[in-house]
Amino acid sequence: MIYSFSRLSLYETCPYRFYQKYLLDKTEPVTKPLALGKAVHKAIELKINGMSEHEAIIEAIIESDFHPEVTYEEIASLMQRAPKVSGQTEVHFVLPLGGGIQLQGYIDLLEEEQFWDWKSNWRPYRANDTRQLALYAWAIMKIRGISQIKGTLFFLRFRKAESFMYSYSDTNEAREWAHGLAEEIEMKKSCLESFPDMASSLFPSMPGSHCKHCPFVLECYKEKKYNC
Ligand code: SF4
Repeated sequence: MIYSFSRLSLYETCPYRFYQKYLLDKTEPVTKPLALGKAVHKAIELKINGMSEHEAIIEAIIESDFHPEVTYEEIASLMQRAPKVSGQTEVHFVLPLGGGIQLQGYIDLLEEEQFWDWKSNWRPYRANDTRQLALYAWAIMKIRGISQIKGTLFFLRFRKAESFMYSYSDTNEAREWAHGLAEEIEMKKSCLESFPDMASSLFPSMPGSHCKHCPFVLECYKEKKYNC
């Protein structure tokens, strides 16, 4: 398995949901926030690369698989709030983290001296409230052989930028976090091959406020019931 920030975050939030999604390969329904985020990212990417706004929005609607709650107007409104910047869009990286673990990610926009990540969230947060920017900063520094890079989260709804200038040492904690979790998952996957009945103890459910958006509530409930 190649790891990403979102996979590792899901595992950290609820190992059982991670198990359902990534080890049993169960599909999660595409929610509006997910579909809208995908559409807006596509529209901004195409606009930066020279496409007209109208065409970019049409492509974005296609990208969202015509999700019934994703509208032309909302995509247009969010797209138009992105700053006028240029650079490489949707830059994909896959890098070794050590011990056979690989980390991948997609950088929304990469300029000479900074990178951006677009957010369509309703609630902004600080640049280092999650480890996403630090991991991406590490990847860019490694690929380019440079010693610092500025990362910016841009919250489209609020036209609000949250930035941080990263050096290698600023990314240590995030890399150790990613490496530690990925190793833990790999170890549990090996255990599961020998003891398939141990799935729910190796990947326990962690109830919390996040449960209200979880598509595996039923599986989770049954698992708990049978194990009580
Ligand atoms: S319902 Fe909650 S505890 Fe159960 S799998 Fe989903 S997120 Fe985890």
